[in-house]
Amino acid sequence: MRAGGLSGHIDGLVEVVPRPVVPVAGVEDGGEVGRIPGPHRAVGGFQLRVLLARVTVAWRQRSEEAQQPQKPRKVEDMTAHPHPVDHELVRAAANVARTRCRGDNHTMAAAGRSRDGLIVTAVNAYHFTGGPCAEQVLIGAAAAQGVYELDTIVAVGDRDRGVVPPCGRCRQVLLDYFPALKVVVGAGERIRTVRVTDLLPESYVWADHQLGAEEGGVLPQ
Ligand SMILES: [Zn+2]
Repeated sequence: MRAGGLSGHIDGLVEVVPRPVVPVAGVEDGGEVGRIPGPHRAVGGFQLRVLLARVTVAWRQRSEEAQQPQKPRKVEDMTAHPHPVDHELVRAAANVARTRCRGDNHTMAAAGRSRDGLIVTAVNAYHFTGGPCAEQVLIGAAAAQGVYELDTIVAVGDRDRGVVPPCGRCRQVLLDYFPALKVVVGAGERIRTVRVTDLLPESYVWADHQLGAEEGGVLPQ
């Protein structure tokens, strides 16, 4: 609502002034003095005071509402999310970020939970040519341990940066590898678990656009 909420009311009162005025009996000079806007002729002094009082009350109410700080989202709203946060997984990633990240080459840690409960961790391998993020190193590290299906993943930044959401490229990679994957995102009280599909709506499905896709003969499984 624009700040002119009150002025809107006042305008509503004032805008009747320019309308044709009706001379008050006994006043013949036609000047503004002594003339009363026609629509207001029926409004007596008492009625006008009541009207102004109502406008004042409305203005005060709106002022008080405007001064009310916006209510923060309740923590219950977060915890009511259908997927609970895997805090053990977050702690594992935070521990690796704190103890294994080093310099500019390794600045992010990731932890993934396998379908059968195993936790796999990894750090990124930064390189200007496009070194993989921690989430992608984790995919290989998990496979090296025989884990090919991840249930949940989280990334944590070094220097106490906390949970960091996956970048756009990682969202696409994670979605393609693990379509049912859950991802821990958010900081502080806003930490929550979402589906990777929620992080990449209307996503591009590579396999759907390959030659022969309709025949299903060349699609990778
Ligand atoms: Zn990434």
